[in-house]
Amino acid sequence: MAISKLQPIEAIHQLYTETGHTVFGENYVQEVLPKIGALKGLSLEWHFVGRLQRNKVKHLIGHFALIHSVDSLELAESLNHHASAAGLTQSILLQCNLAGEKTKGGSEISALQDLALRIVGLPNLRIEGLMAMPPLSVDPETARPFFQQLRVLRDQLQGEIPSLKELSMGTSTDYRVAIEEGATMIRLGTILFGPRPAKA
Ligand SMILES: *Cc1c(COP(=O)(O)O)cnc(C)c1O
Repeated sequence: MAISKLQPIEAIHQLYTETGHTVFGENYVQEVLPKIGALKGLSLEWHFVGRLQRNKVKHLIGHFALIHSVDSLELAESLNHHASAAGLTQSILLQCNLAGEKTKGGSEISALQDLALRIVGLPNLRIEGLMAMPPLSVDPETARPFFQQLRVLRDQLQGEIPSLKELSMGTSTDYRVAIEEGATMIRLGTILFGPRPAKA
């Protein structure tokens, strides 16, 4: 999918016109809703990949085919509550913090199975798979063991939760390695749009 965070509406429109690409991922609640509104006519599919605060959850429901960044039971319960109120089922991925990085979102590996099994009990959510963002590195090979680890986790969890089959992993720098290690979704920003404008 094309990660269009911080890119202007015109850049998204241009990528769509030039390539026919229709799947876009965004990180920031404030900017994504106006973008979705402005591009409604194109029937794009939107994914949310950013860090999510519980007080923003209600704005997201109904707009996203998939939310990639669920990493706590509180967040899942809130999503479930608002999805239920809207009468729909929200598809989600569980984000894993594979390297235990303090600055990043994601469930710790040790808590992942418990989290997944609790979320399965929430009737208005559907867990489709796992997402991770390995530590930043210029060498894509550095990410390989993390991608392998995410795949093993997915395989283990899928035994108990059959719907959990997707692996959202790989960005502009390391997507080739991610595909080799079994990614089912790659998230490309810079390589499609060029450098991102700075965050305001
Ligand atoms: C920004 C972002 C990407 C895309 O990164 P690029 O290096 O520009 O391809 C992918 N995933 C997430 C979660 C992001 O925040």
